[in-house]
Amino acid sequence: MFDKILIANRGEIALRVIRACREMGIKSVAVHSTADADAMHVRMADEAICIGPAPGTDSYLNMASLIAACEVTGAQAIHPGYGFLSENANFVQIVEDHDLTFIGPTAEHIRVMGDKITAKDTMIKLGVPCVPGSDGGVPDLAAAKKLGEEMGYPVIIKATAGGGGRGMKVAQTAADMESAFMTARAEGKAAFGNDEVYIEKYLTTPRHIEIQVFGDGKGNAVHLGERDCSLQRRHQKVFEEAPGPSITPEERARIGKICADAVAKINYIGAGTIEFLYENGEFYFIEMNTRLQVEHPVTEAIFGVDLVREQILVAAGQPMSFGQDDLSINGHAIEVRINAEKLPDFAPRPGKITAFHAPGGLGVRMDSALYDGYSIPPYYDSLIGKLIVHGRDRAEALARLNRALGELIIDGIDTTTPLFDALLQEEDIHTGEYNIHWLEKWLETNLVEG
Ligand code: ADP
Repeated sequence: MFDKILIANRGEIALRVIRACREMGIKSVAVHSTADADAMHVRMADEAICIGPAPGTDSYLNMASLIAACEVTGAQAIHPGYGFLSENANFVQIVEDHDLTFIGPTAEHIRVMGDKITAKDTMIKLGVPCVPGSDGGVPDLAAAKKLGEEMGYPVIIKATAGGGGRGMKVAQTAADMESAFMTARAEGKAAFGNDEVYIEKYLTTPRHIEIQVFGDGKGNAVHLGERDCSLQRRHQKVFEEAPGPSITPEERARIGKICADAVAKINYIGAGTIEFLYENGEFYFIEMNTRLQVEHPVTEAIFGVDLVREQILVAAGQPMSFGQDDLSINGHAIEVRINAEKLPDFAPRPGKITAFHAPGGLGVRMDSALYDGYSIPPYYDSLIGKLIVHGRDRAEALARLNRALGELIIDGIDTTTPLFDALLQEEDIHTGEYNIHWLEKWLETNLVEG
């Protein structure tokens, strides 16, 4: 086992990893930019080291600084968290070239799944059901128009290198194709340096259902059921739950086995998420994330496992601590993402926290790096906290969410918490009847003031 792990991240996810390390008796090293000298992860880790100036490209994305930080501190492994370098195959290669361990999948698996066309191709070969669409990349507008006619509108044009909801455009009719195709290409080029796009049938009322998988890198893998992350704004998740309110145990077992078998076949190592759209009882693969997800705590809650601990175990060459037969679902969990944003526009609002109080009590988990007097720097993601609740059933989890939101105090800045107070008044949220378009539509007619 490792003696010391460096965490190449910040905020709540850095704390999450430090906590797992501490429980395993492993020393942790925090890295930070100059803007994060007073951040909680710096205070909580056993050691901390500055890796560069405020912008992420100069610090948390600075590979040379991170490798040097390992050498200086004697850390043997790097946990990347999510975002930043977590899905960067070149970084994994560099880490390994320096005889360090990357806590995550291999460079090859990250590369394959990071390119959405190759990922889809691979999944089709592994027997995973996919959204109908183009056979690989679409070279030009003429080909795109031809496909649109053949497949039938609406269609979605997606950048093969896309992520975070960027590089995706919907063409409702043939008249939209030119602008959708050109915009998706331009966004792919600008944000990811790759203008290759592909086309998929645009599903009109799907839910976003993702399957958590975990492999040991030696051909063994399990699934940990699904998360329903259909409540999204601009293709970004805001509220996630497990199990999915619309998924039956039989469907879970069927799609879960397909996913576990697929990753076992490729000797996948570590945590992964296979994302699907789910409509009329069918699952359609859209992408695989080769890392720990923001929303992993809802899965941890219902299965009673620590996914970061498992990541560390398999990265150290040890077996996973559970097999498929050891896993059973207990109750229902919900996570809401709390962002430093001003409603109704969701405009980022970093600033100084004048008072912070995290909710507690039975079934409540607050993952946040906030503290009284902390100044949120303007350079990074606006996610400042995740409130996770667990109950014996969905109704209890919702009641607990309501109770916990009432206890939460974040003064000094605007946050997205009023959105969740408002959503809890909605019947559809209580019945679980929503799809990936529900929130956008609801926001058109409901103005939530911050
Ligand atoms: P990203 O990598 O940017 O997160 P994804 O491929 O995971 O992109 O898609 C993100 C979201 O976009 C999905 O959760 C869904 O809301 C929407 N989406 C993607 N593909 C389709 C599709 N074929 N039909 C309808 N909606 C889609």
